[in-house]
Amino acid sequence: MNGHFAIAIDGPSGAGKSTLARRAAKEFGFLYVDTGAIYRTVGLAAHRRGIDCHDEAAISALLPELEIRMGYNEAGEQRMFLNGEDVSSAIRAPEISICASDVSSLGAVRAFLLEMQRRTARESSVIMDGRDIGTVVLPEAELKIYLTASAEARAERRLKELEAKGVETSFDEVLRDIEYRDWQDTHREVAPLRRAEDAVLLDTSEIGLEESVALLCDTIHKRLQIGG
Ligand code: C5P
Repeated sequence: MNGHFAIAIDGPSGAGKSTLARRAAKEFGFLYVDTGAIYRTVGLAAHRRGIDCHDEAAISALLPELEIRMGYNEAGEQRMFLNGEDVSSAIRAPEISICASDVSSLGAVRAFLLEMQRRTARESSVIMDGRDIGTVVLPEAELKIYLTASAEARAERRLKELEAKGVETSFDEVLRDIEYRDWQDTHREVAPLRRAEDAVLLDTSEIGLEESVALLCDTIHKRLQIGG
């Protein structure tokens, strides 16, 4: 890998991938690549133009018009640019999560974004998180991690986040949402979420954030020692 080291982290929504990956990337001086943000940028572009996010023909026609770029600010945070505009905040809107999920099941979209993700890993040592990084994007990654937690544990954490933001909801509603997205991610035809055979399984159902960070960093540290 051109002297670069690649760590692929996959797992279901709400498992804490981005929080943990960001912390580990800082610890090891790797670039953190949030691939969900790239799918969200395509979802945003479609949404803004009023295109039905399930309409593969319309989305395919849109793709050549999109110049999607990833950049990093001084704090090392990933920013997304759509035709020159910084859309990093806009892609986090709830309706864009749904568009992102819809467009991510289209083969044309996944093919369009594949090279961009691979190029990033050729240029830097990365910790890349997503759903198909270890299985499709970087099958040669030096370390693959499948980060998961029970649906109940993920729902519990998500509920706390939403409550902190003042969003009124219930545990049952959040759990139903998580189970629905799990089903979609694991059952889509193109690049479904699954654990790569050689991925290390990290289950954080029973452990807190700091313990999870320590576990991830320890796993990376051991692999770097073997690799080096
Ligand atoms: O991770 P995040 O929730 O930001 O991802 C947005 C959407 O993009 C999700 O619905 C997920 O299914 C999809 N996605 C994907 N493949 C990736 C990363 C995200 O299909 N590598």
